[in-house]
Amino acid sequence: MSDSPLLDRRHLDLLLNEMLDIEALLALPRYAGQDRETLNQTIEAAHQLALDQYLPHNRKSDLQEPQMVNGKVELIPEIAAAVAAFNDAGFIGMYADTDDGGLQMPFLATSICDAIFAAANPGTVAYPLLARAAANLLKAHANADQQARYMRPIIEGRFFGTMCLSEPQAGSSLGDIKTLAEPIGDGRYKIRGAKMWISAGDHELGENIVHLVLAKIVGAPPGVKGISLFIVPRFRLDDEGRPAERNDVVLAGLNHKMGQRGSVNTFLKFGENDDCTGELVGEPHQGLAYMFHMMNEERIGVGMGAVMQGYVGYRYSLQYARERQQGRHADQRDPSAAPVAIIEHADIRRMLLAQRAAVEGSFALGLYAAWLVDRTEHAGPSEGRDEEAELLDLLTPVIKAWCSDHCLRANELAIQILGGYGYTREYPVEQCYRDNRINPIHEGSNGIQALDLLGRKAGQANGRGLRALLTRIEQCCATASEFDDLRAHAEALKRYAAALGRTSATLLQAMAAGQIRSTLANAHHYLQAVGDLCIGWMWLWQALALKRSPRQQEPGFVAGKLGTLRYFFQVELPRIEHALALLASADDSALSMPVDGF
Ligand SMILES: Cc1cc2nc3c(=O)[nH]c(=O)nc-3n(C[C@H](O)[C@H](O)[C@H](O)COP(=O)(O)OP(=O)(O)OC[C@H]3O[C@@H](n4cnc5c(N)ncnc54)[C@H](O)[C@@H]3O)c2cc1C
Repeated sequence: MSDSPLLDRRHLDLLLNEMLDIEALLALPRYAGQDRETLNQTIEAAHQLALDQYLPHNRKSDLQEPQMVNGKVELIPEIAAAVAAFNDAGFIGMYADTDDGGLQMPFLATSICDAIFAAANPGTVAYPLLARAAANLLKAHANADQQARYMRPIIEGRFFGTMCLSEPQAGSSLGDIKTLAEPIGDGRYKIRGAKMWISAGDHELGENIVHLVLAKIVGAPPGVKGISLFIVPRFRLDDEGRPAERNDVVLAGLNHKMGQRGSVNTFLKFGENDDCTGELVGEPHQGLAYMFHMMNEERIGVGMGAVMQGYVGYRYSLQYARERQQGRHADQRDPSAAPVAIIEHADIRRMLLAQRAAVEGSFALGLYAAWLVDRTEHAGPSEGRDEEAELLDLLTPVIKAWCSDHCLRANELAIQILGGYGYTREYPVEQCYRDNRINPIHEGSNGIQALDLLGRKAGQANGRGLRALLTRIEQCCATASEFDDLRAHAEALKRYAAALGRTSATLLQAMAAGQIRSTLANAHHYLQAVGDLCIGWMWLWQALALKRSPRQQEPGFVAGKLGTLRYFFQVELPRIEHALALLASADDSALSMPVDGF
């Protein structure tokens, strides 16, 4: 797998074996009976399936996007085959409890397999991943009867799922949704409204689609406090739980996307003929909180999806840079001398390093978050679970936004390395870029993630998550200081962490004093600073892990890791000082710009 276009196994092994304490994870009671070998075999199986059934039609599904024919969605046949293979191999139920028909494997292992599929074909794997996220939400918040009728068939690979939040007039601001739910007396509700941008909203891949719909019960309070969550199946179920007559959910149109074209994106109308029924999940008016269960998981998934497109682009541009001969060294004056491979040029190496620093650093951060999910959901409270839950909450918007911003930028650099060829459809890097471009937008745009981080997460639980982050970074710096070759980096990171702590305190105080709009005006810079700090931490941590790794004997691997660490610390990390200065001075150059001035 080390020469795979999807993932370098050596990199993954370093994270799994030397960085994250996988043995401690497998020692949790939920994973009794599982070992590293099972994990490895599952990852290998995912990799093989991704190579055999996902990668080969990645291009075709980009060129032949879904069509709406007589009110139905038509997909290329390879998608159905690949999704069925995923489900048949058990990947759909990988994280689900064995009692629910799943494999009960760690979330960490699930995230790795998902990442491999997302590297091979992000459009196709979106169908089962959305279904799985819907099943996880039902597991957390639906009643036993609903779980039996809707969640179980998803885990069996028979039903699919969607998340229906957005409406034409309400995307970022979900408090403004207009979809209504009216009780009809038997515990069911009539649903009426329109949902925009619904991924996998209609298709013929399974027996049914379980739409998880946000709506307001008639008379509910305004804003997000009035939102409830409903199960709205495409086909209503009969008494035996089998799909029976069609529910009044109509496919009103398809959205024609820039990338990830294999995953159909739909405009759905609910209750056009006054015959759309749904079931309430949990309590009324708690819908957004429930949906966040799905969205938080999806946000880590979106971040990881962005990482993997960045990763694939990096690997491709690296190979290209080694092969493409062009130009000579600046001090080489003989025009008849043979041209050099472009990887010889420092500017190409700069762009390779920038890609690598972002994608491998982000991959480590994403896996760390997945590890935290396992810990927070399955470790006991005495094992630091509450603190880790706060840390995970804090890191979620960072993973979603920093990783999707910087791994998209990585794709841009991959295109640049290929020069004119990179700009053509004959080479894959432009598709990586287009497929990746959605990630800063959906699941809450990156601007919204920044508001979430500074406006909510940084001060949440009295700043416990932020303190946990800074403490862990300091501990890593203390250990790294013991090594001569890491000491200077450790000291720099420690300094930046302390500065972020001070700036955060100032910003939280300002918001507590009512300066909310002016403080949040710079939320983007705050998220970038926290993200830079986290990625610096991940690089330092990897360097420490290398000290314990058998890979220490591979000079090329070690030089690659340490060289990228050095690049990130020298060239990229210092920008944190500028971001913190903008934040500390409450820079108002954007906020004060008059709208008429544009
Ligand atoms: C391919 C694709 C797939 C999607 N899949 C789904 C899905 O399956 N289910 C679903 O429910 N939705 C889905 N979405 C919708 C997606 O989540 C929304 O597009 C996203 O939340 C942004 O909403 P919007 O498009 O209405 O943009 P708007 O909310 O209009 O935002 C436009 C811009 O304004 C900024 N902005 C908005 N409000 C603020 C604010 N208060 N402060 C600062 N900046 C602000 C945003 O950051 C953004 O840059 C999908 C979208 C796409 C494109």
